[in-house]
Amino acid sequence: MKKNTKTPFNKPYLTGNELEYMKQAIEGGKISGGGSFTKKCQNFFEDQYNFGKCLLTTSCTDALEMAAILIDIQPGDEVIMPSYTFVSTANAFVLRGAKIIFVDSREDHPGMDESLIETLISPRTKAIVPVHYAGVACNMDIIMNLALQYNLVVVEDAAHAIDSFYTGKDGVKKALGSIGHLAAFSFHETKNVISGEGGMLAINDPRFMERAEIIWEKGTNRSAFFRGEVDKYNWVDIGSSFLPSELTAAFLWAQLENIDKIQSRRLHIWHSYYDILKIDVEKKYFKLPVIPDFATNNAHMFYLVFNEPVQRDLVIERLKSEGILAVFHYQGLHESPFYKDKCGKMVLNNSEKYTDCLLRLPFFYELNFEVIDQIRETIDETAKIL
Ligand SMILES: *Cc1c(COP(=O)(O)O)cnc(C)c1O
Repeated sequence: MKKNTKTPFNKPYLTGNELEYMKQAIEGGKISGGGSFTKKCQNFFEDQYNFGKCLLTTSCTDALEMAAILIDIQPGDEVIMPSYTFVSTANAFVLRGAKIIFVDSREDHPGMDESLIETLISPRTKAIVPVHYAGVACNMDIIMNLALQYNLVVVEDAAHAIDSFYTGKDGVKKALGSIGHLAAFSFHETKNVISGEGGMLAINDPRFMERAEIIWEKGTNRSAFFRGEVDKYNWVDIGSSFLPSELTAAFLWAQLENIDKIQSRRLHIWHSYYDILKIDVEKKYFKLPVIPDFATNNAHMFYLVFNEPVQRDLVIERLKSEGILAVFHYQGLHESPFYKDKCGKMVLNNSEKYTDCLLRLPFFYELNFEVIDQIRETIDETAKIL
């Protein structure tokens, strides 16, 4: 029964045209940023998902750092976000002197508990940063209404959330990343659509559009110069080198051309996991992912939430001994050494539960479906001894 082949947690998928497009970029004599592949990718997102202006970046981390500059975060400003997230969500704002106010996760989902946000808003609050965990939408009606009421900016951390949607009370289905004032995406090799390292900032609020381009281009008005809008280009603001090379954009374009194929395969894998593991729910041993009615599923990951940390850790160990790599995820940032040293200890029960009990199963385009049956067997066996 046991296979000798190893199953990694992630394996980057190449759709076929990546090298060809990179070759075209090189032969075209333009390999720095902002060329035709960059424009193709940006236009794709603007057209397909109704984002405002899109700018490719070298990572989602960079896109978040751009957002923090763009919304003019000053030392002492407060930014509200979930504790159960990647370091960059917080770090981008800390770099500009912000104080991070962490929200607990929902009981039924690792995403932030929207009902707790309002009590954390103070006169110093500048922004809310919802993270669409596993590509599943936060309740954006609640978040956007708070933003309107208290004059806050919403920056969606949409790193997991490409090709996923939210339907609010108005009944309109909107792409994640098109709802907040700004949104940051990742094309890191562990995400659905990849370019090695890579990211994008979507700017939906027109008041940020002009300055975004300047920050992106090292604080210069170079983009306006190339469009013939100014006759010299100058240093006009702060900024940095946020744009990726054409080689990265060429790789990304090959992926975007195949986004439907990638997504349909990933959804097939996700539903296979769900159907095969569903039967174990009655054993009250772990919980399957929950997708609220207002959200779609983009098959970014498949996770289980065990009742006890020992159960999760034993399953990780057992799977590992069979050559299958399943992994835990975030360590709640409120418990990180960096944050605790500065802000002291706080308790966020649900975030801590996901830190201790959440398990991510191998998930990638070329996953062999037999592995899913093997995982099921291993979980069954482990259940017997616990
Ligand atoms: C992956 C990820 C990031 C960072 O993305 P990079 O492109 O690697 O910088 C940020 N936030 C979340 C929630 C992520 O999962």
